[in-house]
Amino acid sequence: MSSAALHILKDVFGYDAFRGQQAAIVESVAAGADALVLMPTGGGKSLCYQVPGLLREGLAVVVSPLIALMEDQVATLDELGVAAVALNSTLGAEEQREIAERIRAGQIKFLYLAPERLVQPRMLAFLQRLRIALFAIDEAHCVSQWGHDFRPEYLQLGQLAELFPQVPRLALTATADKRTREEIVQRLQLQEARRYLSSFDRPNIFYRIQPKDQPRKQLLAFLAARKGDAGIVYCLSRKKVEEVAEFLSAQGYPALPYHAGLSNELRAYHQKRFLNEEGLIMVATIAFGMGIDKPNVRFVCHLDLPKSLEAYYQETGRAGRDGLPADAWMAYGLQDVIFLKQMLSNSEGDERHKRVEQHKLDAMLALCEETRCRRQALLAYFDEVLEQPCGHCDICVDGVQTWDASEAARQALSAIYRSGQRYGVGHLVDILLGRDNEKIRSAGHQHLSVFGVGKGLSEAEWRTLFRQLVARGLADIDLDGYGGLRLTEQCRPLLRGEVQLELRREPLPSKTAKPAASAASSLVRGEERAQWEALRSLRRQLAEEHSVPPYVIFPDATLLEMLRRQPRSLSDMAQVSGVGARKLERYGQAFLDVLAGDGGPAAARDLRHELVSLARAGMTPAQMARQLHCSEKQVYALLAEALAAQQLSLEQALDLPEALREELQDAFLEGEGELPAVSELAERFAGRVELGVLHCVRAALQAEFEL
Ligand code: ADP
Ligand code: ZN
Repeated sequence: MSSAALHILKDVFGYDAFRGQQAAIVESVAAGADALVLMPTGGGKSLCYQVPGLLREGLAVVVSPLIALMEDQVATLDELGVAAVALNSTLGAEEQREIAERIRAGQIKFLYLAPERLVQPRMLAFLQRLRIALFAIDEAHCVSQWGHDFRPEYLQLGQLAELFPQVPRLALTATADKRTREEIVQRLQLQEARRYLSSFDRPNIFYRIQPKDQPRKQLLAFLAARKGDAGIVYCLSRKKVEEVAEFLSAQGYPALPYHAGLSNELRAYHQKRFLNEEGLIMVATIAFGMGIDKPNVRFVCHLDLPKSLEAYYQETGRAGRDGLPADAWMAYGLQDVIFLKQMLSNSEGDERHKRVEQHKLDAMLALCEETRCRRQALLAYFDEVLEQPCGHCDICVDGVQTWDASEAARQALSAIYRSGQRYGVGHLVDILLGRDNEKIRSAGHQHLSVFGVGKGLSEAEWRTLFRQLVARGLADIDLDGYGGLRLTEQCRPLLRGEVQLELRREPLPSKTAKPAASAASSLVRGEERAQWEALRSLRRQLAEEHSVPPYVIFPDATLLEMLRRQPRSLSDMAQVSGVGARKLERYGQAFLDVLAGDGGPAAARDLRHELVSLARAGMTPAQMARQLHCSEKQVYALLAEALAAQQLSLEQALDLPEALREELQDAFLEGEGELPAVSELAERFAGRVELGVLHCVRAALQAEFEL
């Protein structure tokens, strides 16, 4: 590995070592080769082009499909002290000209833009006159027509190969399947590219799938140990999204709804809050997903079954991008299966397509009823072999018991058959348990040979069994009729006694009641809590001051390392992973102060921080004094500090008539050299303005002219 690359990694990004294949990718791209990078979410794709971009001379051009993604990346680079801009449709003509000028002058290192932007003839001509370090094509699977994120504009990116034959190109994606991979190579002209294929395992995610019993209660039990963590809860319908969000909020877990039925504005607002605030839960339909690069999503829950393993992998994959422990939790039941099958049968499309979808659903169900390690099963579906059970999923941790369900299954199938293949699970269970009720009597089912033969199992056990029969395709749901159960071809060998059936035994309720094992109840231990919150609070303030999401200031992993290492000096701080030179200089001391338990400056910061928001909201000093429970004099002092730090403009801080403001400014600027002290002008303005106003005007001028 070249020492230049390692030096950049440490100095700019604050990291000590490359991960996985990063080093190899960086080295070959820096040397000018093309690359195809397939890495799971959280694998560290960004560094694969950012480091070579910095190593090579010229402008690095990054193609990205979504404005939100671009802005996140630009903010991150900006915080690292790397000059980056995003060109997008929200910019005015003037701003665009200015950016073009800065690019020409070589002041910009990274240019992010959407594919349709890049391929405009004028843009291509503009770039051809420049020195280009590399092209990075992010989310490269968007070029695939088979994927769900197809973007026709991506197809045009192939021309970069001919237009810029000397410039290395890399395509990056977290979508692994072979078909997509080949399409990327073909359409983006990457035949010569080296391929870097990583394992798609997400080792930091703990998988748990539970049978649905009382889903809301189960969800609350899961969340109990995760107060203050951010997460996503997926539901299938908009109505349920709204209800669950309301329910969680009422239970003390702040939650926001997100689905396609909400206005664009509200959706954008909720998304922004989710990114910028900590500990929010997003309750969402699958409309919420792509473009969510929040790294510290600590859990993803499914209250409804996803329709394929592809969807499950992608949705759960949004947890733990930062590499810290995260959870994927799901509750599923027979109703989910019925619902999805119904959707499938009502969907448009030809028979072949429906069959494919049916197979995908079956694979999803198989994972739910799995008796092997979940991770082994999940990866196997994507053609990846995990030699050992993972030790980090519910099955590995809790173990699973199986039982010979052949006899019971035959009884259940027989109940279906003898009652005419048109009853739902409730009635079938009544038959097996020999319950004497009106529905049974009116159908004459008390005379069936299977009536009452199933008293050896409980109602819950029978329900589980029926669900498992459907999940394994041994029984089927009659969607044309009333949703009753039917036999399938597949159940015949079992009925004839030619095969046996082993099924999962569901853990007893008493066992599920105790807190279930998971990734981590929480990232921090009890005694660390206070300091952790203090670090997060400082990060939040800085993030607001800089108008970026908190994780752009420092990722959780970096805060956690500060907490564990307890740096005492700036040079200790520089050793913390994620603290590069620029961030050390900007934030190092503030975080050291928090770690030293030095509440003083932090408390003052807090007050000033609040005051800045109030001033921006248009409050007068008197109103702010009341709101903050302090004197007006103190408000003016804090305003002056904020003005000196350029957190506010004078117009935001004080509502002065323009003439008066100019008069005040002129008074300070009359002499030569240094600004006069406030005391020198106090008399002149006595009775007209508060002394504090003079302090503020002076501070603003000082900041403006750096006097
Ligand atoms: P991806 O785009 O593949 O989902 P990112 O590039 O966003 O992943 O990286 C995920 C997280 O891992 C980020 O917080 C990033 O800073 C961190 N990271 C990436 N590479 C390294 C490394 N070599 N050492 C430490 N942290 C890293
Ligand atoms: Zn496992």
